[in-house]
Amino acid sequence: MDSSSNKVFALALCSMPWAIFNRPSVQLASLQSYLQQKTAYRVDSFHPYLGIAALIGTDVYPEIALSGWAGEALFSALLYPEKKKDTAKLFHSSISASTRKRINFNTLVDEIEQQCQCWLNAARLEQYDCIGFSICFNQLLPSLYMAKLVKKRHPNLPILFGGSSCSGEVGESLLKEYKQIDYIIDGEGEERLLTLCRFLDNKTATLVDGIICRRPTTHAKQPLEPLEINDLPFPDYSDYFKETQQAFPLHTFIPLLPVEFSRGCWWNKCTFCNLNVQWHNYRYKSSDRMIHEIMALSQKYESLHFTFTDNALPPREADQFFAEIAKKAVDFDFFAEIRGTSKVDRLKNYRSGGLTTIQVGIEALSTSLLKKMAKGNSTMDNIAMMKLCTEQGIKMEGNLILDFPTTSMAEINETIDNLAYVQPFAPLEAATFFLGYGSPIYKNLQDYSIRSIVPHAKTKMLFPKKCHNSMTMLISSYRGDKSIQQQRWKPVRKLIAAWLLFHKNRENKSRPALSYRDGQQFLIIRQEQAGKATLHHRLRGLSRKIYLAALIPTKLSSIQDLFPQVSINALEQFIDEMCSKRLMFQESGRILSLAVQQH
Ligand code: SF4
Repeated sequence: MDSSSNKVFALALCSMPWAIFNRPSVQLASLQSYLQQKTAYRVDSFHPYLGIAALIGTDVYPEIALSGWAGEALFSALLYPEKKKDTAKLFHSSISASTRKRINFNTLVDEIEQQCQCWLNAARLEQYDCIGFSICFNQLLPSLYMAKLVKKRHPNLPILFGGSSCSGEVGESLLKEYKQIDYIIDGEGEERLLTLCRFLDNKTATLVDGIICRRPTTHAKQPLEPLEINDLPFPDYSDYFKETQQAFPLHTFIPLLPVEFSRGCWWNKCTFCNLNVQWHNYRYKSSDRMIHEIMALSQKYESLHFTFTDNALPPREADQFFAEIAKKAVDFDFFAEIRGTSKVDRLKNYRSGGLTTIQVGIEALSTSLLKKMAKGNSTMDNIAMMKLCTEQGIKMEGNLILDFPTTSMAEINETIDNLAYVQPFAPLEAATFFLGYGSPIYKNLQDYSIRSIVPHAKTKMLFPKKCHNSMTMLISSYRGDKSIQQQRWKPVRKLIAAWLLFHKNRENKSRPALSYRDGQQFLIIRQEQAGKATLHHRLRGLSRKIYLAALIPTKLSSIQDLFPQVSINALEQFIDEMCSKRLMFQESGRILSLAVQQH
């Protein structure tokens, strides 16, 4: 780098596989627009995952990207050829049988290697003064591999890593272990990246907290203030769109645009969660700002599909946002993650504002287990949420965490019982518990009967042994009651598989599996059953009225007040009967009718 010349400082930003191919990187786009607003630096974003998606096909790429391990396995084979046997095994166990038949692991590894070299030739990195890799879910090994290639070809080009997978001790250990990395940015990226660029451009000799470097460097004493995110410029996705045309000249698709409503999580208590290690202060944008951003991005990139990258939407601002969006004559559709405590009116409002798919933090169907997870909700809330999504036509994605440490047999049995009530609703994914770096459990091991932290079986397959001892991994395993839990949760695992199969085999998926039609004096409930004939139940008179009085979770005492002519014994008997037929659910004095109205 020649600071005496008039050359403008140039920064390359890079997002590696296995980012979702039909989605630009919000991290790169936000950093790029921030630096462009604050400086005259040249900033270019690169998305090598587009080339890889074009290479392996847009049908196979998403499966590898979403598998969690298959993509990392392919790059581990490149970074650590001696681990190829293990990584091939991990790859094969992480993809479907049909993809396994179509793909030869060794050939694919070779093709990816060639594609990475092609990208490196085309990127002409000699023009740049620094390259930054943004590393989130599934991007660590691909970034380490590409950084190694870059370092070999451009030994003087500073390389920095940042993003959620480089937080805290994880980032520090990456810097120690991998010589190709020169700097780590830990925490919010914008100001730190700006400072680092100014430092590399010889405009300052002082760095700020959260920039970790190899050589001793002066850091400012004052910690960096979190940014006011309402003032941030809109993300700049132009480079992604240019690259999309190059990677897919014949095959056009409409990208899904990621947007941030908030940073961090307003709840931030779930004991297993480490999604917020990167963020130290929860902040959210105003609904007005969010609407302007959506409208501007939609017009600029001619897209109507948006995905909120928030860990959990900010509830009040989101209420205003969707209410305003609903008034606009634009057919947007949105994906968002929300907490499982939403009420009917809120979900209705979100749906009319274009929210078509949500990920809900269900996690458990046992209230005492939910308490151990500090979810702040109950099984009743979760079941009501699942019903509400079915009713509102919102596609719901959610997980059930299995093998959670300290789960009692009573909690397992409660989960098994409750699984019978949620059969009609969209199945949850089985998500095996892992120990997440920085999560409340990680910080309080003894409360969860955890004696020690050990490497996760799958990271053992990806990294050589020396790394297990020297590095802090984002995902770990533990010594404690793990094998007991694996045994205990087996029946739940089987029931989830059967639940998935039931929904996969349903003939008419647009019709709810448990629905009712109202005849004013009577009610007909239609109940599909796995492997058995569909049942029809007829409720007349007061039975119909009681059923309809509990379409949302309702206190038994409120039902009693509504129907004083019914004795408490008769009422309880009716509810017990409805519950035994899985037409109603009851918990702690609240009841919920499970059927949704068929229109
Ligand atoms: S799991 Fe979701 S709601 Fe819970 S703390 Fe993490 S981000 Fe927040």
